[in-house]
Amino acid sequence: MTQSTALAQIIDGIALSQQLRADVARRVNVLKARGITPGLAVILVGENPASQVYVRNKVKACEDAGLYSVLEKYPPDLSEAALLARIEALNQDPAIHGILVQLPVPAQIDAAKVIEAIAPAKDVDGFHIASAGALMTGMPGFWPCTPYGCMKMLESIHFDLRGKHAVVIGRSNIVGKPMALLLLQQHATVTICHSATKDLKAITLQADLIVAAVGRRNLLTADMVKPGAVVLDVGMNRNEAGKLCGDVDFAGVREVAGYISPVPGGVGPMTIAMLLVNTLEAAERAST
Ligand code: NAP
Repeated sequence: MTQSTALAQIIDGIALSQQLRADVARRVNVLKARGITPGLAVILVGENPASQVYVRNKVKACEDAGLYSVLEKYPPDLSEAALLARIEALNQDPAIHGILVQLPVPAQIDAAKVIEAIAPAKDVDGFHIASAGALMTGMPGFWPCTPYGCMKMLESIHFDLRGKHAVVIGRSNIVGKPMALLLLQQHATVTICHSATKDLKAITLQADLIVAAVGRRNLLTADMVKPGAVVLDVGMNRNEAGKLCGDVDFAGVREVAGYISPVPGGVGPMTIAMLLVNTLEAAERAST
């Protein structure tokens, strides 16, 4: 006897990000009518091919939404002092409301110093210690774009987190930890898993929501997911054919989960949309 199974609903990050970007464009026009154009400075040091694609996409998204954006490219041997001086100049530049330094930076530059050099009021990536502290204590600040985008995806499916068990796999400062804090803020019971976690499957099987943010293909398979659970896939990997894929075995998990975000077309476009939202909000805050 065959059992009929409904496939999980797809959380379409492209469609949702387009809605958010259209809303940003409307709010940008309101600011422009007051003589303010939100401005983002994107700094790229070196020639990392993936970084080049990311910064190009970010700058194009800004232009499409009517923001001012400037892409500053520097050679791989740029000194740390020169980069810090440039950031300080941008901190003082009234046309720039958001500053983003694309990571990773070359080895001679200390990424932590770079992040801390950005004025918290312009920290649209949300990586500064002041932003992390604000998130942890529930104060106003900038949330890192990827977990912020995940929260918007959950909002789009009206997923009420109160009392739900959310399992975040990965504990990086840019995805896993802020993701867990945002879920906690919405009253989920949160478990954070990492490379030393024992019996990941026993934990994920209890989850109403799983956020996979590891960077390992097929980390999450169907046998690890409770029927009906919501699965957000943050991972970005390549399969043998060189095709972009996430951390989740999409075809398998789709047969068990209630909702699932695909890769590509899921969290990635949301991350860019939230960068625009943060930059717009930086400009709105600066203008009040
Ligand atoms: P990261 O800094 O390398 O962190 C990966 C995390 O995964 C670490 O906390 C690590 O644990 C954990 N981990 C590794 N192996 C594991 C295992 N077998 N079981 C459970 N946890 C394990 O990476 P990241 O910057 O957070 O990014 C994670 C993924 O998301 C990457 O694929 C990245 O490309 C992608 N990403 C996507 C976007 C987007 O916009 N879509 C944005 C950012 C990142 P330890 O801490 O113990 O080492």
